[in-house]
Amino acid sequence: MLTVQNLTKSFGQTTVVSSINFTVGREEIFALVGPSGCGKTTTLRLIIGFEQPDQGRIELMGQCIAGEGKKMPPEKREIGFVFQNYALFPHLNVIENVAFGLKNLPKVKRKQQAKTLLEMVRLQDLWNRKPHELSGGEQQRVALARSIGPNPKLILLDEPFSSLDSELRESTRLEVYKLLKSLRMSAILVTHDQEEALSFADYIAVMQKGRIEQINTPEEIYRKPKTPFVASFLGRSNILKGVAKGSYVETHLGRLDLETETYGQVSVSIRPEHLVMQTPNGGSTGTIQKRDFKGHDLTYEIQFGEFDCFVHTNYDSRFQVGECVELKPIEYAVVVKRNEIT
Ligand code: ATP
Repeated sequence: MLTVQNLTKSFGQTTVVSSINFTVGREEIFALVGPSGCGKTTTLRLIIGFEQPDQGRIELMGQCIAGEGKKMPPEKREIGFVFQNYALFPHLNVIENVAFGLKNLPKVKRKQQAKTLLEMVRLQDLWNRKPHELSGGEQQRVALARSIGPNPKLILLDEPFSSLDSELRESTRLEVYKLLKSLRMSAILVTHDQEEALSFADYIAVMQKGRIEQINTPEEIYRKPKTPFVASFLGRSNILKGVAKGSYVETHLGRLDLETETYGQVSVSIRPEHLVMQTPNGGSTGTIQKRDFKGHDLTYEIQFGEFDCFVHTNYDSRFQVGECVELKPIEYAVVVKRNEIT
């Protein structure tokens, strides 16, 4: 329903969005994830129409809305958006804030529709409060109710949960997710929080320096990252150099199996939870440097020569700092880079 083709935007000499391509399907939640300054918000602003592209085009439901001479004004695009700071009107109460987004309805119907929207986000009892009398999570839900009110074709969410504390963030996220899915909305979420992207989105695009490095489902992108950056940005990963010999690669940790036949100098990624620790048994050994107990699980940092490797284990692993261990892979390693022979 949304197609972005070769979208490019520069500010002065700096290209902040560099020829990106992606599509968002009907009823799909699509996440743009990447570090601060990689161009996520600029991409959203181009889609809303607050910025104009230098190159490329944007199509919404088959209609060109930007690019190639077309410049549809933001209010005509039928796109809703929710920002990090909610942007609620401080002098209006909750129901007036929501009704404000319903200008297309006759006045008498606005309040009734705003009430229905507040019921959707379970805030009907707080209709009379001013924004400063609400928690961050409640304000966020008002902002969402206001943006879905006009029944937009697409909703854009820019770091919508980042100012909430971690517990509220999780519950608000789940509620917003359920609401978007029950209304069968299409949405784009911008976040730098990889866990949020993995749990919230149907598809993820990982951005770095204005470019998209990879697009796929959360599971696929986590399981098969294509670059070292994607491997380490979405979850923790061990990136190792080695020599691929067909079905396996020789590394500091020993031999790791490869899913795809590969030959030559490569860098591979293996996730900390895809390695199991065992007492030395004739293979490469490392020394435990740190044992990080987190209640539900443990992370070990293990030194193999100059290489530090991370391993996640069950909460009850008994290995201690200073012990020598061997690591056994329980999943394939993934090639994330082919290295030149120097
Ligand atoms: P964050 O997660 O920190 O919000 P982001 O990925 O959303 O980052 P953008 O806000 O898109 O990044 O900014 C990308 C780059 O473009 C940044 O270096 C920013 O300083 C720059 N930039 C954004 N808007 C403008 C502007 N109007 N004029 C000049 N530079 C800008």
